[in-house]
Amino acid sequence: MTQETLVVIKPDGVARGLTGQIINQFQEAGLELTRLELRRATADLIERHYPEDEAWLSSVGGKTLADYERLGLDPADYFGDATPAMIGRTIKGWLVDYLTQGPVVAMVLRGNDAVTKVRALCGNTVPVMADPGTIRGRFSSDSAAAANTEKRPIHNLVHASGTPDEADYEISLWFGE
Ligand code: GDP
Ligand code: MG
Repeated sequence: MTQETLVVIKPDGVARGLTGQIINQFQEAGLELTRLELRRATADLIERHYPEDEAWLSSVGGKTLADYERLGLDPADYFGDATPAMIGRTIKGWLVDYLTQGPVVAMVLRGNDAVTKVRALCGNTVPVMADPGTIRGRFSSDSAAAANTEKRPIHNLVHASGTPDEADYEISLWFGE
């Protein structure tokens, strides 16, 4: 089933000159590039791009908890008695700062099952956990623990819509109509 999905190359990917290689990896997999724009994002755009709901905030905070468990670290040492949603809210603030601090490349990709395919090409949110053939696994070895220590979001090069509904919302947010 043909779908469209949104990808944003984050400031780390643009600054490192990886835009071409990242786009290439999607096109080699058969995805068609239908929109492409280099731009500076406003804080308002990024606030609306990432969800505000408790479930999403908890799932983001949950990635920290999973990473700390993997490393045998105690999240209380870093976040006190914060709930996963409170950790997620803190990380969302870091994302707003980070994604507005340098240019990003937004694009729409179209293809069969594009949402799932693009997420698979991007790999796990946490680059140390991402398969080495994926964009995040190839070009980064960041982790939640390292990023939290520096009070910044994980540098994982790309954002990709997680579901077809998220894709519809995000494409209209970034490209209008
Ligand atoms: P994605 O859909 O794979 O990008 O992951 P999420 O939607 O769960 O999280 C959004 C973004 O927040 C991720 O791409 C990371 O840049 C960042 N992020 C997620 N979890 C954590 C975390 O535990 N710690 C930090 N510092 N950043 C995180
Ligand atoms: Mg997401």
